[in-house]
Amino acid sequence: MNQATPSSRLTGFHKQSVADRIGQVSDFAGLNAEERALLANTGNLPQDLANHLIDSMIGNINIPVGVATNMRIDGRDVLVPMATEESSVVAAVCNAGRQCYDNGGFITSMSGTRMIAQIQLVDIADPEHARIRILERVDEIRAICDECDPILIKLGGGFRDLEVRVIDSRSGPMVITHIIVDTRDAMGANAVNTMAEKLAPSIAAWTGGRTYLRILSNLADRRLARVRCVWPVEAIGGAEVRDGMMLAYHFAEADPYRAATHNKGIMNGISAVVMATGNDTRAVEAGAHAYAARNGRYTSLTKWEVTAEGHLAGVLELPMAVGLVGGATKVHPMARLALKMLGVTSAEQLAGIITAVGLAQNFAALRVLATTGVQKGHMALHAHNIAMMAGAVGGEVDALAKVLVAGGKVRIDVAEAELKKLRAAA
Ligand code: NAD
Repeated sequence: MNQATPSSRLTGFHKQSVADRIGQVSDFAGLNAEERALLANTGNLPQDLANHLIDSMIGNINIPVGVATNMRIDGRDVLVPMATEESSVVAAVCNAGRQCYDNGGFITSMSGTRMIAQIQLVDIADPEHARIRILERVDEIRAICDECDPILIKLGGGFRDLEVRVIDSRSGPMVITHIIVDTRDAMGANAVNTMAEKLAPSIAAWTGGRTYLRILSNLADRRLARVRCVWPVEAIGGAEVRDGMMLAYHFAEADPYRAATHNKGIMNGISAVVMATGNDTRAVEAGAHAYAARNGRYTSLTKWEVTAEGHLAGVLELPMAVGLVGGATKVHPMARLALKMLGVTSAEQLAGIITAVGLAQNFAALRVLATTGVQKGHMALHAHNIAMMAGAVGGEVDALAKVLVAGGKVRIDVAEAELKKLRAAA
C-alpha cells in the first residue's frame, strides 16, 4: 500500500506560533532534531522581528555581509556593506575602488526622489476626453494625495505632478493616470499605493469609467541615480586592457544576450548593498532592467568612453528606489547597522553609494573579462565552496582549496578524493 502523502493544506498555518509552524513543517518534511534547531536559530534577526516582517515565517537564512574597501564617493571615504552569497563580488568592488581612488573616486547625483503610482481606468468610450478631464483636476488630486500622508508633507514630500496617458491594449484603450510623488527618504511604495487607492474612486466618478489597478511603477525613472568615474589608463594596466574593456562594453551595448550578463554583474554590486541596507532588491532590479530596455531594446546600463587623455570613463544611470525609512530598513538590526556604517543621512546619498558600487562592479567585470577571464579569480573562492561541499572543516577548507586550485580541477569528485588523501596524511 502507498504511504499517504502529507498534505500541504495547512489551515490557519499563518496564524500559528513560529514554534508550531516549525513543528508542522518538520513533520511534513521529516526534519530531524538538528534541522528543527536550525530553523529555530534566527541568528542576528530576532525571531519575533522576523515573524513580523513576513508571513508564515519559520526561520532565517543568513547571507554573508562583506565590506567593500577603497571606495571614495563624492569626496568621502566609505566602507560599504554588501550582503551576497556569491564569491568574488566584494573583491571586485575593492579592486575597482583601489584603481580610481587616487583619481578622486566616484561622483554621484540624483534626479530627485519622486515615485510614480499608476491608476488604470477602463470602459471609457472617449479616452482622450477622459484624459483631459483628469488633468483638469490636478488641484483636487494634489489635495487627495497629500491628505494621505501628513508625515511626508511635513518632511517636504508629497504630490508633485500628474501625467495621464492613453494606451492601447488587447482589452481596448485604457487611460492611465500617473501621480508623481516625492517620497523623500522612503522608498515610498506604501506611501504612493495608499494615495493611488484613495484617488481611484474620484477618477472613476469624474470620467464615468471603472478603475482597476492602483499601484506604483517600479520603473522609477523620476528617481534616477547617476554616477561617473574616470580610471586612469596607467592604473588599469595600459591601453590594451582599456581597449579590451571597450570591446567588451560595445558587445554588451549591441547584444541583449551579453547585456543581460553585463547588467547581472552590475546588479551583483547593487543588490548586495540594497539587501544589506534592508531595502527591496526586487524593486531595484525590476527598475534597472526595465530602464535598460526603455528604448525598445535591452542594452547595457553602463556607458564607457575613452577620454581625450586616453583614460577610461564610466557612467551608470538607473532608477534607484531605496530608503532610509520604511520596509525592513529601520526594523532589521543589521540593516540599521549597515546604514550607520555608511554614514548616510538621506536616501539620495544611499542611492549614490549603491550606484557607485554598481559601476565599480561593472568596471571590475569588464577588466577581468578583457584580461584573465572570470574563472581564474572565481576559482580560488569557488574552491572553498567545493571543499566545504566535500566535507572539509576548519583548516582543511583552506588546505583542500589550495590543492584543488593548484591541480586546476575544482570539482566535487576531485575534492572528495583529495580530502581523503589530506586526512590520511594528517
Ligand atoms: P513605509 O510605508 O513603511 O514608510 C514610509 C512612510 O514613513 C512615509 O509614507 C512617511 O509617512 C513615513 N516617514 C517617516 N520618515 C520619513 C522620511 N524621512 N522620508 C519619507 N517618509 C518618512 O514604507 P514605504 O517606503 O512607503 O514602502 C516600502 C516598502 O514597500 C518596502 O518594504 C517594499 O518592499 C514594499 N512594497 C514594494 C512594492 C513594489 O516595489 N512594487 C509594492 C508594495 C510594497
